[in-house]
Amino acid sequence: MVTAAQTLLSRLDDLVPRHLELYEDLHRHPELSHQEHRTAGIVADRLRELGYEVTDGIGGTGVVGVLDNGDGPTVLARADMDALPVREESGLPYASTATGTDAEGDEVPLMHACGHDMHVACLLASAQLLAEDRGGWAGTFIALFQPAEEIGIGATSMVDDGLAQAIPIPDVALGQHVMGLPHDTVASRPGPAMSAADSARVTVHGRGTHGSMPHSGVDAVLLASSIVVRLQGIVARELAPDQFGVVTVGSIRAGSKSNVIPGEATLLLNLRSYDDATRSQLREAVERIVRAECEASGSPRPPEITWTDPFPLTDNSPEVHARVSAAFTEHFGDRAIAMDRSTGSEDFSDIPRALGAPYLYWVWGGFDPETWHRAAEEGTLHSTIPGNHASTFVPVAEPTLRTGTSTMTVALMTYLAKGV
Ligand code: ZN
Ligand code: ZN
Repeated sequence: MVTAAQTLLSRLDDLVPRHLELYEDLHRHPELSHQEHRTAGIVADRLRELGYEVTDGIGGTGVVGVLDNGDGPTVLARADMDALPVREESGLPYASTATGTDAEGDEVPLMHACGHDMHVACLLASAQLLAEDRGGWAGTFIALFQPAEEIGIGATSMVDDGLAQAIPIPDVALGQHVMGLPHDTVASRPGPAMSAADSARVTVHGRGTHGSMPHSGVDAVLLASSIVVRLQGIVARELAPDQFGVVTVGSIRAGSKSNVIPGEATLLLNLRSYDDATRSQLREAVERIVRAECEASGSPRPPEITWTDPFPLTDNSPEVHARVSAAFTEHFGDRAIAMDRSTGSEDFSDIPRALGAPYLYWVWGGFDPETWHRAAEEGTLHSTIPGNHASTFVPVAEPTLRTGTSTMTVALMTYLAKGV
């Protein structure tokens, strides 16, 4: 039996050249989080051309297109649009040489090093397939293009800017990410799939003094060092042995000269967890330890702890997973696999959570299958296949575009095909 998704995807060949060209164009023109003006403009134009009802400028540069095709379920699919301050080293003819200005006002190199350009191209290709052949499906399709995923606030910025008033409330929400898997492979899992994350900027205060007279100051270097060491006890001694958590100190800064004891130190922290209870436990333990170490050092002022870049837990609905993963298996056979739980994070789920919709977020691959399988056999995957955010993380364009458009279309038709 030919499925509704197969009928739509029989036209994929016709769409590939146009969307490959779009993909390479987006890849050449990456834009930082909340600066996705060019990308959002292209997306809005294309959606209007295809007959979508478009609202743009939601949460800054967010765009939604709504396609009403009669009675049936309402399904939302999301792609993120932002790039990263990374200097591209792929050597590809369409490699980015772009630069931009970051939030601190510094000029930085720009690259689509997380594949969001591919997400945009695939969702637009699916949007075109659905718009141009409306016979096999019924319902309402919402194509959502989100800014600022990389800093964890783009989804929330759309929600806070009235997303719920701009679109019909979806019955289900879908999202996908290209990863370091073979480009013919799609992977999904029910329940927690990607970790919740928080970052913190911690500034602790000592009292500066001469390096030869430590007794007359409070040493911020010793204080910060004690915090770094004591923080390691959270995962090792406070979480249960089977409870997942990560506490990383990614930066520690203090002082400028060997014989000056500095009066201040700044630490940048990153936390990961797979459930909200652990997330709160990690945050509370960090705050307790920082305050207690400041007290232990005789710090003259309380520390400043600022929480930033919050990413929600991606907790896939078991019901949506059961339906969509069955459709993936029907379409892709043994190339539809179980996804490993990722310690990476995503803000996608802020959207369905705010709209009260169940959701599924899955991953698909962007790399040559033969190379991937050989590296997996040899145990050299990490040195052979670049990870997301690496300066060489660029999917093999055409097959990855084909698979990503297919996965999204198959998942959409799980709900929108007539007679399901
Ligand atoms: Zn990323
Ligand atoms: Zn990403």
